[in-house]
Amino acid sequence: MTTPTSAIATRGALWRNWSGSVQCRPQQTLAPRTLTELQQTVANVAGSGGRLRVAGSGHSFVPLVETDATLLTLDAIAGVEKIENNVATILAGTSLKPLGHLLRDRGYGMMNLGDINKQALAGAVSTGTHGTGLGLGSISTQVEAMTLVMPDGSLRECSATKDPDLFAAARVSMGALGVIAKLDVRLQPAYKLKLIKQPMELDECLARAPELARSYRHFEFYWVPHTRGTLVKLMEPTQEAESNTALTGLLELILENGALGLLSRIVRARPQWAPRVAKIIAGSIGGDASTMVADCHRAFSSVRLVRFNEMEYEMPAANGPDALRELAAFVEAKKIQVHFPVEYRYVKGDDIWLSPFHGRDTAAISVHQYQGMDYREYFAGAEAIFRNHGGRPHWGKIHTLTARDLEPLYPRWHDFLKLRAQIDPAGVFINPWLQKIFGL
Ligand SMILES: Cc1cc2nc3c(=O)[nH]c(=O)nc-3n(C[C@H](O)[C@H](O)[C@H](O)COP(=O)(O)OP(=O)(O)OC[C@H]3O[C@@H](n4cnc5c(N)ncnc54)[C@H](O)[C@@H]3O)c2cc1C
Repeated sequence: MTTPTSAIATRGALWRNWSGSVQCRPQQTLAPRTLTELQQTVANVAGSGGRLRVAGSGHSFVPLVETDATLLTLDAIAGVEKIENNVATILAGTSLKPLGHLLRDRGYGMMNLGDINKQALAGAVSTGTHGTGLGLGSISTQVEAMTLVMPDGSLRECSATKDPDLFAAARVSMGALGVIAKLDVRLQPAYKLKLIKQPMELDECLARAPELARSYRHFEFYWVPHTRGTLVKLMEPTQEAESNTALTGLLELILENGALGLLSRIVRARPQWAPRVAKIIAGSIGGDASTMVADCHRAFSSVRLVRFNEMEYEMPAANGPDALRELAAFVEAKKIQVHFPVEYRYVKGDDIWLSPFHGRDTAAISVHQYQGMDYREYFAGAEAIFRNHGGRPHWGKIHTLTARDLEPLYPRWHDFLKLRAQIDPAGVFINPWLQKIFGL
């Protein structure tokens, strides 16, 4: 395998994802520092018959990044090139946290984000990462144009008007259609959000979920297994003064992460205590609503120090409440040993070929299990319920589907595979996980 002299190379270094569920030892890890180096690197690897995968920040739970050949990291290909007419050209390796600061300093904010800000922008886009809001699509829908590096090192640009098929496919493509070098992202003028957190009984919460989703820009809730307790989070843009976010950040660190970490270690040592610990967590939600006002990038993201594994399915919005009711009944009936809250969100439908939100407004339900604890029975039961409700798996999270299961879920499945075969007939960007999900 030829190593380009320019990109910084490391040999045989261990790579692992955030949750520790995926580890690999690529033959070489290459870190190009410029777009030209990136192009040369891809051309050299592909030209010598090699294979490569690109890592974002490793926050996917499944082996999307795994490779024993060449791993590319784009940490150095980061920053905002320009902002014009509310559209920013952003280098692919930029991670969401510094991006939030950079945009705010220039008077802009992203339209919506997920609940952490550690991902690389291209990594988040590649799996259809989303936040919550019935009127708001995933981060991929905020992308207006992309520049990708093809196996021969050439650049290919796409947008709704230029190479529209590639654009429809590449915005959720898990690194299978080339290396994303740049993205144009639609922004809005900087804004603040008021976050309201309030406890609500599960039945009331599920009955009101559709109405709350229509009434608030952002609505989501966490349900604590083995209890009827939920914590509802509502967010609306506001002109109110910012809260002391340093203080709320500290409380989040101590209460949400410190206490959850301690309780989780107890449950891992004594899994049969999970229902009791869940009741402690539900009790800690308290009886009163709390509010916080913050810049949008701060309001969206939480700190997640307690590591877990996660499955998430995206189903038609109308099916969400029943799917969660069935999940609650399953957890009770099977006495599932889990204490981690279940997250419930809404995402607007889109037209991206492999987006899990393709063609339908969606309820997204995520189940979590503490790192090091067995999740098989829990996730298998949840997956059966979610699939029965027409669910599609989140591409970055745990699921057991293969190409045969996935193909009927996506009307543009074959168009995507055809385009992939045209772009990368030699399978330079393919790894065993993609072979499995695409049936290659
Ligand atoms: C604590 C935690 C919280 C999360 N919260 C949310 C959430 O709120 N909403 C949600 O939807 N998901 C969430 N996720 C899932 C996460 O957002 C996705 O898995 C996301 O893809 C991870 O981004 P990453 O930068 O870590 O990418 P990685 O996991 O490193 O890679 C993901 C995919 O992107 C590809 N890729 C990366 N960079 C490029 C590039 N330049 N060109 C081409 N392909 C590339 C990789 O090859 C891979 O296929 C969460 C995950 C964790 C661990």
